[in-house]
Amino acid sequence: MSKEKVWPSPDELRRDMEEFFSRKYGDRVRLGILTTQPDQARTADEGDEVREAPLDLKFDYLPRDIKNYLDRYVIRQDDAKKVLATAICDHYNHIKRCSARGPCREYSKQNIIMLGPTGVGKTYLVRTIAELIGVPFVKADATKFSETGYVGGDVEDLVRELVHKADGNVKLAEYGIIYLDEIDKIATPNNILGRDVSGSGVQRGLLKLMEETEVSLRTPFDLASQLQAAMEFQSKGKVTRQVINTRHILFIVSGAFNGLVDIVRRRLGARSIGFMAGAGAIPKDEDYLALAKSPDFIEFGFESEFVGRLPVIVTCRELGIEELFQILKHSEGSIIRQYVQAFEAYGIELALTDEGLHQIAEKAYEERTGARALVGVCERTFREFKYSLPHSGVRRLEVTARLVDSPVEVLSEIQEVAKVDQLASLAVEFEEITRQWSLRHGIEIHLQPEAASLLCRKALESGKSAIDVFEETFRNYEHGLNLIRKSRGISRFEITPDVVLNPSETLDHWIRDYYISRPAAD
Ligand code: ADP
Repeated sequence: MSKEKVWPSPDELRRDMEEFFSRKYGDRVRLGILTTQPDQARTADEGDEVREAPLDLKFDYLPRDIKNYLDRYVIRQDDAKKVLATAICDHYNHIKRCSARGPCREYSKQNIIMLGPTGVGKTYLVRTIAELIGVPFVKADATKFSETGYVGGDVEDLVRELVHKADGNVKLAEYGIIYLDEIDKIATPNNILGRDVSGSGVQRGLLKLMEETEVSLRTPFDLASQLQAAMEFQSKGKVTRQVINTRHILFIVSGAFNGLVDIVRRRLGARSIGFMAGAGAIPKDEDYLALAKSPDFIEFGFESEFVGRLPVIVTCRELGIEELFQILKHSEGSIIRQYVQAFEAYGIELALTDEGLHQIAEKAYEERTGARALVGVCERTFREFKYSLPHSGVRRLEVTARLVDSPVEVLSEIQEVAKVDQLASLAVEFEEITRQWSLRHGIEIHLQPEAASLLCRKALESGKSAIDVFEETFRNYEHGLNLIRKSRGISRFEITPDVVLNPSETLDHWIRDYYISRPAAD
């Protein structure tokens, strides 16, 4: 059983749809536009007049401006920030020049290859830049396209997704950024028996996009756009060809590139790179990674044309405990800000201490997934607090190292203290409610201390307000006590714990005693 069986081929789809439409509307409807001819994605060199769309993108940044902006969000990775900022400026300045002076073909696009372990900010850097300059950004895993049997999508979907991200603004999508992670997984090293055909197939597909091509916005599998085309055909007798040109789309590929270190080390041979790591220091793997060049990527398993289209190499470094701490404390995108806001919504102040943040950083570091681990550690730390504090009356939570280490213990201590505070303030409330009730009805009820504390506990445990608990408990007391007052002239009643525990029975009993039994006995 293969996936191809489930999906019809484009031609089958066309036949099915034609059949459906002709059954419903007769032969007047034709779906000639449903085609999978190469016309769907042809290269612009095939005779098309290349017309430059005017740039509706304001770009007047200097590399330093971009670096400064990145510094607000991304901690460290200074070399990567500089190289990226410069490449981005080159790229968009070139587009500006093209739209001012017409096509300039001699330019080699600054597509980028990013190296580095997971969770160190590779995607974050690019996403932040895209947000700054206001271009759409699409991220996907390269492995998605090498799945055998992957039907109904290909690398061109990335380009169509850009249009989607740009809310249908094709012009803006043409200046967008496509980010492909896990690119190292589609390398096809020569020494592996039977080259992975799908991997090099994907590389070739990407290569075409990176060079320049036009991608149709309609695919045979996208029924909505096909129906739209069908309607357009019926009303106008022709269908406008909607394409997006990839000339100015920036491609950034990234990966951890395990194994590349050995290739670089071999190439450098006996030559020391000690100077890179500082005098006397033993170079780390990431020092070698920072020296990777195009031939190393070819040896790693990429087609030379593919590597040739990725002239900018950016290396991101591993993040240590100190960097993770800095992220929590200083990054404007720090995950901890989400928690501060989440607690703020319940009127609870999250008081962060350096030792607490450090503890979170240490725990996250142990997971070896870079800053990604911060999300999990924070979630585990605050999960129970998020549930329990909003109804606890606690207004301030100090994030100490101990809290990070033993959240459950600290929470129950806090809850104990909060309970005492809450009981005390409930006691004051019940006293006031009782006083008001007595004044209103001209009957004094006196709460004994144990009775008051029972009421407080009832309110605390049920989560109900003091007034609700009071009204529930003494529901029929106004009427009942009034009867007694009128018949016996008694206007002061003592509320014992037993009254709180059995309010209706007690009232019945009092009424019997004072109102029914006594008059009969008199
Ligand atoms: P990758 O390097 O695998 O692409 P990401 O950039 O997706 O990792 O990082 C995951 C998340 O971790 C980001 O969304 C960001 O919140 C945080 N992060 C990673 N690196 C940094 C960094 N250097 N500074 C600030 N936050 C970071």
